[in-house]
Formats: sequence, C-alpha cells, structure tokens
Amino acid sequence: MAKLLNGKEVSAQVRRAAAEEVAQLKQQGVTPGLAVVIVGNDPASRVYVNNKKKACAEVGIYSEEYSLPEQTTQQELLDLVEKLNKKQEISGILVQLPLPKHLDDKAVIAAIDPSKDVDAFHTQNVGRIMLGDYHFLPCTPAGVMELLRSEDIPVEGKNCVVIGRSNIVGKPMAMLLLHQNGTVTICHSRTQNLADICRGADILVAAVGKAKFVTADMVKPGAVVIDVGMNRDENGKLCGDVDFAAVEPIASYITPVPGGVGPMTISMLMKNTIMAARLQAKLL
Ligand code: NAP
Repeated sequence: MAKLLNGKEVSAQVRRAAAEEVAQLKQQGVTPGLAVVIVGNDPASRVYVNNKKKACAEVGIYSEEYSLPEQTTQQELLDLVEKLNKKQEISGILVQLPLPKHLDDKAVIAAIDPSKDVDAFHTQNVGRIMLGDYHFLPCTPAGVMELLRSEDIPVEGKNCVVIGRSNIVGKPMAMLLLHQNGTVTICHSRTQNLADICRGADILVAAVGKAKFVTADMVKPGAVVIDVGMNRDENGKLCGDVDFAAVEPIASYITPVPGGVGPMTISMLMKNTIMAARLQAKLL
C-alpha cells in the first residue's frame, strides 16, 4: 500500500507560511499584488481564476481580476499587460491560458515584465530555470518538488522518468529533477518501449493528459508515482493519468487526483507572487 502524497495538507502548510511572509512584508510597507487576466468564457479557466483569487485572499495578497470579452484584440491585451507592467500595486501578472485562438499567447507572454512573470513562462525565466539560477519556477513542477520534499523523498541519484514534454509541465519538471541530481528521462508520444522505460523509474511523473495511461505493469514496485494529469473519466469524474486503483498497491508513494498535485499549483503561485514583490522591492 502506497503512502498518499497529500497535496491538500502540504498546500495548506505552504499557504500558512506564505500568509506569515505576507504579514511580515506588509510590516515593511510591501503588499504583494497579483493581476489575473482572463479572456473569454472558458468554464475551466473561470474556475482556475476564481481559485487563484480565493488563494490570494487567504494569504493576504492583494488581487485584481481583468475579465476581457472573447473578441478582445491582440493590441488591447498587450496594452493591458503594458499597463500592469507599470502598475506599482501589481507584483505579479498572470494571463490565464489558453487564450482564444485569434490571440498570440507567445507575444502576450513575451510582453510581461520578466520580474512580474509569476507563471515563469517568459523566455528569460525559462532560460534562468535551464541555468539553475532562477527567481520563479513554473507552479506545477514546483508543486511536485514541494510534495517530494514534504516527505523527504530523495531525488539524488534516482532514476526519474517524466512522461510528457510540454513547456508548462514536462520540460521544466525534468529540469527541476535534474537540478536535484536525479537521472532524468523524458518520454513523449514518439517514445519507443515506454513501459520498459517507466518500469526503470524510481520516481515516475505522468503529465500526459490521458486517463489511466499509467498502468500497473509500467510501475516498478516501490516507485514514487506523481500524477499531474487532470482528466475526466467515462463518468465525467475528475481523474489523473495513473490507474490509481491498480498502481497504488505497488507504489511506495502516490499522489491522488484530486487532492495531489492540483492544490499545490495555486499555492506555488502565491509563493511566486511574494517573490515578485520582494524582487520589485529589492528585499531578497
Ligand atoms: P500537453 O501540452 O498536452 O502535453 C502532453 C504530453 O504528453 C506531450 O508531451 C505528449 O507528447 C505526451 N503524450 C501524449 N500522448 C502520449 C503517449 N501516448 N505516450 C507518451 N507521451 C504522450 O499537456 P500538459 O499541459 O503538459 O498537461 C498534461 C496533463 O497535466 C493534463 O492532463 C493537464 O490537464 C494536467 N495539468 C495539471 C496541472 C495541475 O495543476 N495539476 C497543471 C497543468 C497541467 P508529444 O510532445 O510527443 O505530443
């Protein structure tokens, strides 16, 4: 029976620490502020934005929401980003993705001041992560690392397999494991012998976006299994990429979905917003 890596509990600890840090910063005259920009009416994005606002309120971060109509033009969005770059009260800017198809997300991310880029998607921040010299980490991979730390799970020297190579999850996840001296393999849709590679993993991270993709025969007994996936099963229920019922008896640790990596992501956003406020106030 695997031990559950409880994202709700660890996330609550991270938020308590964040709230204390915010209170200290306020005593020094600095109030971290987050601007969340949402374009259009995607229901999932709406839920994420509401959760981000709630988390800000919980830890004492000032927040502003900019809810723009679906037909917003590229220039209007860039103008808003520029305004927020200059706005003193705003330490961090988050543009909720995906954007409607007519908008160029790369150009929008490039327009965000890198010191306010709390998603860590700007090329400057991506480059810094590659070099291991960073202020911000992308929230989901950072949340996974925090979960591993919460149980003192060693990464050094371990075989780490990341399934998925997206810029948001897979690639930075691999980089963070590498920075902790893991031996990292990245798998993707063209990988051959995927199950064999996964079976060699001491730490297996699934970021694929396919329900029950990781089956019991792909997991080494005693492996740590991290499920980043957020999918709907045949009954419309939220589920991860891992066949939890089959894998849980084999693994040493496993993240549930929901309640694993998901809650960590927003808590790490709070940490990044505090870091952004520190950066701008030169309080590092
Ligand atoms: P993505 O951009 O769609 O990337 C999926 C990756 O999986 C791609 O690299 C793809 O390979 C790979 N893949 C697809 N089919 C495969 C197969 N048959 N074998 C091996 N690899 C395969 O997705 P993402 O943004 O990284 O997100 C991944 C999952 O995490 C989604 O379920 C998403 O909802 C979830 N997510 C959760 C959180 C959270 O807070 N918990 C945050 C972000 C994302 P190719 O590159 O070759 O196409």
